Amino acid sequence: MLTSKMIKEAALAAGADMCGIAPMSRFDGAPDEMNPQFLFPEAKSCIGFVFRIPRGVQRGIEEGTQFYQYPSMAYGGINEIFAPAVLYQVGKVIEDEGYEAFVYRNTGARGVVSDMDGSPGNTLSPEEQIEINENAKTSTAHHRSVQFTRPAREGSVAPDLQFQFRIAAVACGLGEIGWSKMLLTPEFGPLQRVAFIFTDAELEYDEMYSGEPLCRRCGACVRECPGGCIPPINSGKKVTVNLDGKILEWGDIDMWRCYAFYTHAGRYYNPFVPKEVWDKNEDGSLDLMEGVTDIANEQEIMKVYTALQKYFPSWVGYNMAKCGGCIRACVSVLEKKGGCMANRFKEPLRTKKAWKLDR
Ligand code: SF4
Ligand code: SF4
Repeated sequence: MLTSKMIKEAALAAGADMCGIAPMSRFDGAPDEMNPQFLFPEAKSCIGFVFRIPRGVQRGIEEGTQFYQYPSMAYGGINEIFAPAVLYQVGKVIEDEGYEAFVYRNTGARGVVSDMDGSPGNTLSPEEQIEINENAKTSTAHHRSVQFTRPAREGSVAPDLQFQFRIAAVACGLGEIGWSKMLLTPEFGPLQRVAFIFTDAELEYDEMYSGEPLCRRCGACVRECPGGCIPPINSGKKVTVNLDGKILEWGDIDMWRCYAFYTHAGRYYNPFVPKEVWDKNEDGSLDLMEGVTDIANEQEIMKVYTALQKYFPSWVGYNMAKCGGCIRACVSVLEKKGGCMANRFKEPLRTKKAWKLDR
């Protein structure tokens, strides 16, 4: 008989760092277009897997010495290699017992609504728009939302259905959402990515986390965001979700603004872009990053990408993140002040003042 214990043991043996299981009823009331209950209506259980991001993957950015490892390992590596391999192995254990394993790895940019701001319709990511502009005759558009989708069956939702991963992880009892909108877990703080399996097997379920709040509401993430993308704790700008009776709350982050700053970091935090480029701000393409405009939308982000993408050309199929300021700030606070992550490392992440370019 398939049990939660078997699944969790298989998950850890295959390389996951944590595993939690929720009944599908915890998603009651989610907006249809993001409700995983529609994925596979016979599903009874949602199995969540945590894959830790090694703290050292961000060491190069913390030191200002190496920026490639974080996006290539913590985005590309986990999402494309490590997590799918675990889903595959655990899926086999489930299906060997006669139940189905609907594996769901991390993906983006293919839902009915934009994974950036929830808006429907054609929302190109900046790098994709650049590619289309440059190779219009050969490239097929790839959008942050699909353009012409429609339900395949009456009473269902249009594909591809994407759900909110961090809320699903909370449903599986794996942690809570911090003010910075990151998933926080007791073991790894903000340092993880997640993936899921939905199955028709009925299992024993984990309670949602109910210990001391994992987010200290300290505001370090707000202070250390180079783009001012996270609203202050007491600003009232927050998102509140009732997940089967558990209230989740996080800062209402300006996601498009974060898109620009986490990839290009701005004048003081991007050593790859010469000072003169920021000074010149040709055609106003860096207005958003230089504070000339406050409007962060897809058009402004595209201008930024078009101007700056050549300064850090390496690709792993993911944006070349250069920021992670909120994550590092959060790790630094949590391991020094206690709560989650306490005593994980012999030395703290931050041992000297954070760097900022003088220009
Ligand atoms: S990833 Fe960077 S730009 Fe985005 S919210 Fe965090 S600190 Fe700000
Ligand atoms: S830095 Fe502080 S406020 Fe921000 S998510 Fe972490 S614990 Fe919460």
